[in-house]
Amino acid sequence: MNINKAAVLAAVICGFAGGFFVCKFTEADCMKEKNIDTVFAMGDKNPYGKFFTGQTYLNMLSGNDSVFNAPIGNVTFEPGARTNWHKHSGGQILLVLAGEGRYQERGKEIQILHKGDVVRIAPDVEHWHGAAPKSWFTHISVETNVPANEAQWLEAVTDAEYKQ
Ligand code: MN
Repeated sequence: MNINKAAVLAAVICGFAGGFFVCKFTEADCMKEKNIDTVFAMGDKNPYGKFFTGQTYLNMLSGNDSVFNAPIGNVTFEPGARTNWHKHSGGQILLVLAGEGRYQERGKEIQILHKGDVVRIAPDVEHWHGAAPKSWFTHISVETNVPANEAQWLEAVTDAEYKQ
């Protein structure tokens, strides 16, 4: 197989496996590509990045204010990126828009997430969420029971925990 054929084949496989994002010729390109085919803009680098592993992006679709008391953010994770372990005193609802993701509650199995999934995270349940190892991932985060909802950030999710 010559290089051009290999590149085309890789692009096809990459596009098929990636599904929702545009990529070029190799899996490596696929992993780096940030042009995600989803609903909302990715926004800027996540200002809460110190509580995450890997690069994430945050676009606050509706901020935290006393009129609505319903902060809604679009969060995008590069492949392998995830939150630290954490909990929300008022809970959280995740609406999955694109890609393949991961969700785990402390002491339970990791769940695989796809477009259209809804994750209802009860108050004070320790958990993490993020992308699959080889897929970009986007979810909307809805903070519930605001304003008495505070996130408590815990330790990073280790590679061993992430890959189990
Ligand atoms: Mn959470």
